[in-house]
Amino acid sequence: MTFVPLRMRAVGEGGVLCVHDIGHFFRADAPFMTRLAGDQLTSQDRTFLGDHGHLVDAADALGHAAYLYGLAERAAHAGPLDYLILVPTLRCNLSCSYCQVSRAGIHQPGFDWSEATLDAVLALLDGLPGERIKIEFQGGEPTLRVDLLRAVIDRCRRFAERQFVVCTNLQVLDDDILALFDDPELFISTSLDGDAFTHQRHRTGTAASTGQFLDNLDLVLARYGPGKISALPTIDPLAPPDIDALIDSYAARGLDSIFLRPINYQGFARKRHSASREQSGGWRAYHERFVRALIARNWADRSRVLEETYTSICLRRIFQPGADRHVDLRNPNPLGHDYVVIDHDGVIYPSDEARMLSRSGVIDLAIGDVHSGWQNARRDLLNRHNANFDDPACQRCAYQPFCGRDLVDDLARYGRIDKPRLETEFCRRHLHLFDFLFGLIYEDDPAVRYSLSRWLRLDGTPDALGTVHA
Ligand code: SF4
Repeated sequence: MTFVPLRMRAVGEGGVLCVHDIGHFFRADAPFMTRLAGDQLTSQDRTFLGDHGHLVDAADALGHAAYLYGLAERAAHAGPLDYLILVPTLRCNLSCSYCQVSRAGIHQPGFDWSEATLDAVLALLDGLPGERIKIEFQGGEPTLRVDLLRAVIDRCRRFAERQFVVCTNLQVLDDDILALFDDPELFISTSLDGDAFTHQRHRTGTAASTGQFLDNLDLVLARYGPGKISALPTIDPLAPPDIDALIDSYAARGLDSIFLRPINYQGFARKRHSASREQSGGWRAYHERFVRALIARNWADRSRVLEETYTSICLRRIFQPGADRHVDLRNPNPLGHDYVVIDHDGVIYPSDEARMLSRSGVIDLAIGDVHSGWQNARRDLLNRHNANFDDPACQRCAYQPFCGRDLVDDLARYGRIDKPRLETEFCRRHLHLFDFLFGLIYEDDPAVRYSLSRWLRLDGTPDALGTVHA
């Protein structure tokens, strides 16, 4: 019999989480671990390990094939380019203190796509091979250039499957913008930081009226329903809002998913807030309290399911390999292949944070532009380090099958990609998240199991979430 290597990590009191390369896992007690370490496994232990794919007979070709299939299923595969983040203008009618996109003033010339850039973006869309397209319009404030958005959307009609997302501050709505939003293939993404006071705190600029924003948010919710609208809070980890007030501000509007993000200062903003490089234990404790508050609410009112979006993404990474395409958490994490960002001047970047690093003069991560084409050598150079398979810390980590790699985040925080993994914020964040999740997974509380099950899109019955103990 061949032992499939097990990665181990202490969880809960006296328990050890054992994870095998393809992500199957069980929790072992101390006597089992003693028998395993002393090579004194009982026949019952061996049967258990064999039944769950941790022991494979040398002659078992099917067992070996299943193992290899499981490895392949865990690895992300970038398909053809079908997801574009477009920045038709960098101008914005707000100037938020944490602005992640280094915006330009509302009247500043030279920060919108030129006619030539629009034509080149449309030509790039014409050349895409697939049948599916997702376009996310970011800015600046993209609704300042409804004409450019409309030109792109019209050009995408040839794709069989289409989805458009407009990331907007919703400060201004007029008939032209609403006519654009009426498109059933278009979704609206906005920011809602909590109650009116919290929301106002970071916002300044010519159109910075929180009352107007909330009126506009309520208007689009009434006109389209919550299924078309998503909102994200951006939270100051040093002064996070009251958890119940934040959840109420979403739940009262029918918004069930809350992506709890601490301010991620990028580009120029990060230069002004250098202490933001690492998140504190206080922030992680806040996140845990937030998730537990959602669990309590879901159990008290089972007519709806509230979720913290990234927690659900990590949970699905554990239980549903290959089911998620979240580009910030995958392994390998191919850059510049299946999604790209096209800036206001037509320059192409592998991600939004890469765009910010270039704009703030830290490092130029451009991989081409719509006028002169791709710079594949630059893209390939980046992609040499896009996986966690060879990292010595990740190789020993129990969470490697579920975790990912974000080298642009490493560059943004540390200016290098070879910092020991365990010393990076990406690693600390995910160690904490997976520790927290596995703690929940093995918690014997029906309220916890109900929420976990529903976040996995299961039915919430007590047995829907199977867990294994040795
Ligand atoms: S980055 Fe950290 S948490 Fe993720 S696999 Fe590597 S060592 Fe584990």
